[in-house]
Amino acid sequence: MDELRDLYQEMILDHGKNPRNQGRLDGSTHAADGHNPLCGDMLHLMLTVDGDTVTDARFDGQGCAISTASASMMTDVVKGMSLHDVKQLVRTFIGVATGEISPDPAELGKLAVFSGVSEFPARVKCATLSWRTVEAAISESNDPITTE
Ligand code: ZN
Repeated sequence: MDELRDLYQEMILDHGKNPRNQGRLDGSTHAADGHNPLCGDMLHLMLTVDGDTVTDARFDGQGCAISTASASMMTDVVKGMSLHDVKQLVRTFIGVATGEISPDPAELGKLAVFSGVSEFPARVKCATLSWRTVEAAISESNDPITTE
């Protein structure tokens, strides 16, 4: 697990400092807001869904390095996925981040690094915020997401 922890730190630093997919998304079809009052993370997520496939994803807002890195990686990963697969990955990711399930690198790929966050319970809500928010966006729920 030491290797995974090092990789985790590295990816968080990289994506936290240089987030991918940040900014407004023109012509988005789905959107949701997420808020983690514990840390102060605010996230606005926008998706373009074509048929059953997520074709684009972007986010903006204010967040700590972990929530930003998580949103950056999440928006990268969901592009090209079906809505069904995104929903399944949300469940898996939250399970891994909370330490309830062991990461299966074959299923999670680079997201397996977030299993490192389960060792820092206070940061789990930061890591899972973008995933709860994408779930809300594709469920077309109008309720803002809060981790509390
Ligand atoms: Zn945070």
